[in-house]
Amino acid sequence: MARRKGCGCASALLAVVLAAAAVVGYKYALPWWRRQPPKPSGGELQVHVLDVGQGDSILIISPAGKTMLIDAGDFGKDKVVRDALARYNVSHLDYFVATHAHADHIGGAAEVLKSVKTDNVIDNGVAPPEYTDTQAKATKAKVAKGGNAKGGKGAQPKSPPAPKLPRGAQLPTVKAYTDYLDAVKQSGAQHTTAEPGAKIDLGGGAFLTVLAPVAPPFTEDQMRGGGNAPNANSVVLRLQYGDFSMLFAGDAESVSEDRIMRSGAELQSKVLKVAHHGSKYATTEEFLKRVKPEAAIISDGEYNRYGHPAADVLSRLKAADARVFRTDLQGEITITTKGNEFSLREIKPAREAASDVYAGREGTKDDSERAGFIAYGDFGPPPKPKPEKKSGGK
Ligand SMILES: [Zn+2]
Repeated sequence: MARRKGCGCASALLAVVLAAAAVVGYKYALPWWRRQPPKPSGGELQVHVLDVGQGDSILIISPAGKTMLIDAGDFGKDKVVRDALARYNVSHLDYFVATHAHADHIGGAAEVLKSVKTDNVIDNGVAPPEYTDTQAKATKAKVAKGGNAKGGKGAQPKSPPAPKLPRGAQLPTVKAYTDYLDAVKQSGAQHTTAEPGAKIDLGGGAFLTVLAPVAPPFTEDQMRGGGNAPNANSVVLRLQYGDFSMLFAGDAESVSEDRIMRSGAELQSKVLKVAHHGSKYATTEEFLKRVKPEAAIISDGEYNRYGHPAADVLSRLKAADARVFRTDLQGEITITTKGNEFSLREIKPAREAASDVYAGREGTKDDSERAGFIAYGDFGPPPKPKPEKKSGGK
């Protein structure tokens, strides 16, 4: 936005006009989407929940051909994402949304941004704590080196214990975020922070509304009940195209859902991209009552230590009458719709599930602030010695 220098009278006039608009009925000053949702053009809207293992990456292609990628999976999953972009003839992204700065969402982002021209990058504007800590430590080290070191008694208040890593290794979260920021800068894309209420017009009658993060950002201290702050600060979006609607919950936690519900935004959606890979710390009964999804898609890895998706969440979804689809059991999940009467038949998984989609996984590690975690990601098949366990997956 260009800032204009003008005479005082121009700004005074503008102020009067704005005030008048507000008084008279500011309704008429609103853009079309506030007055009434646009009519579907009749073209096809596609949503592809890609199979990136433990993580998220979702491609949206609007009826007008506009494209949005929400997250890009973990390190190394950029190949899956780039292959999908090629498969759907997407050589340009109008929008890349990074829901939050965890490696299972932005680990693949740098490579994707390097290979596909991207116009706009939207994120939550919050650096992960590990990154902030690293920056602070680096500054401290610099100061200590440059200044006259007064013995080792700097006695700074200790930040939470850092996870143990091999010597010299960089935390995946720090690496992912650093690489992401560099790639965004290099890409020349417009980089903005998601603001609740903002609309993103994808053309042809398809548009998105930003639902979260609702300010102020959650802090680690607020997450004692479970879940963690970077997740809770996820960008959450709602897509609408005629009768079709879909809520993309990122890795939101129940505290984020509470705030979203209190915001008064329209939440009801035909399809829900379930928060946080089906973690037990999200997707509450109350939230499901508001969203009323007919289908729920869970993006998760076959081998994850966090017990995603949780049995509790799956039973809440079942009780809410939402048909569950899972990338770990069914591969990529594709929705194609013309925005007419929505039907579950518009959702097509790449393959049939070989086991019950409503059966949850057991966690070996708590995915919350209380336990602390290093990074998400696929961990490979579990160790062999127990042939006892009958695994359903391939
Ligand atoms: Zn995640």
